[in-house]
Amino acid sequence: MDIHEHQAKSILAEFGVPVPKGHLAFSPEQAAHAARMLGGGRVVVKAQIHSGGRGAAGGVKLCTSEAEVRSYAATLLGKTLVTKQTGAGGKLIERLWIEEATDIAQEIYLGFVLDRKSERIMIVASGHGGMEIEDLAEKDPGSLVRMIIDPAAGLVEFQARDLAFRLGLKGKQIGQFVTTLRACYRAYRDLDAMMVEINPLAVTGAGDLVALDAKMSFDTNALYRRPQVAALRDPGQEDPRESSAHDNGLAYVGLEGDIGCIINGAGLAMATMDMIHLAGGAPANFLDIGGGASPERVVTAFRTVLTDPNVGVILVNIFAGINRCDWIARGVVQAYQEVGLTLPVIVRLSGTNVEEGREIIRTSGLPLMSADTLAEAAKLAVRSRPSPIAAQ
Ligand code: GDP
Ligand code: MN
Repeated sequence: MDIHEHQAKSILAEFGVPVPKGHLAFSPEQAAHAARMLGGGRVVVKAQIHSGGRGAAGGVKLCTSEAEVRSYAATLLGKTLVTKQTGAGGKLIERLWIEEATDIAQEIYLGFVLDRKSERIMIVASGHGGMEIEDLAEKDPGSLVRMIIDPAAGLVEFQARDLAFRLGLKGKQIGQFVTTLRACYRAYRDLDAMMVEINPLAVTGAGDLVALDAKMSFDTNALYRRPQVAALRDPGQEDPRESSAHDNGLAYVGLEGDIGCIINGAGLAMATMDMIHLAGGAPANFLDIGGGASPERVVTAFRTVLTDPNVGVILVNIFAGINRCDWIARGVVQAYQEVGLTLPVIVRLSGTNVEEGREIIRTSGLPLMSADTLAEAAKLAVRSRPSPIAAQ
């Protein structure tokens, strides 16, 4: 789960990261008021959306007067910002962060990520941070410093100092960097984060370190024990398809294709998506309905898949080990009737009570197509897609 920059800054500040003063604004008037409260000097107006790359997309602006803050806030609020990371749909700007401006002497990149290979938290850093960091990472990956943290020892001071030296920091910056690094590490570890990123961590004209941007993302599976973090969720920034699935406890990831998938088990879901591609189609989603899927859950899964207007056909693929095919089949029939489906539905059942399940599908009197194998189901789904002409 992602959070906003201002939320990440507030969390990191509590752990000891130096951040500039700022205020939240939901209207141009509030933005102007925030600029006044910051002393009326230069401020930065920052669009709060769940995405990086805002600077390059026009979502971050240095303003020198209150009037400028007000007019820029009016331009941004309610607008959809498309960045390199949002996809073509962009993200709606509903709030702004108004922050005192900092003069920047150097921009450092600092990231904490989970290194799956070593199963440890890894720090990635560069002395040349800022908006071009992705290009740098691509062209000159060797210029990024990487450091893996031993969970038993934690982030020890000499490691932090070593990193400070490798980034070319000097004097008082070293102590400030050690404090910042350890604060980020503790925030990451104590809050079940998946990612903490400060880019840029600026060296100011006066030679101090300050976090000008902050990004945090959290492990969704740990949110149950981090209610303060869970409360920071902003559904307005999420894919609406995924929000509704999340609220219903389904594992769902929205994709670009038109074949809606309802599958039990993450592995089978991945295999099904591969088979769809192999048959020349594209899945509209990943959806794992889980092991003990009741007919009600199947109905919910259908409703979730149908929140995506691109879906033109639905493929249900169930291997019933824990589950029973007859139960799933009843769920499909119930869903078809309750949801008032008009789309073609392909059902492939396998496993426990498969004969009973197929019988229910066959005798339902509904236009459900049955497939015996996964390959057959994928081919049928691709063939049953409404043609572009018919869809108009
Ligand atoms: P991002 O593009 O979404 O990563 O947004 P950032 O918060 O990183 O802002 C983009 C860029 O704006 C930064 O890389 C900085 O170069 C610049 N910027 C942000 N805050 C300030 C500031 O207070 N003063 C100055 N001079 N530049 C800033
Ligand atoms: Mn940034």
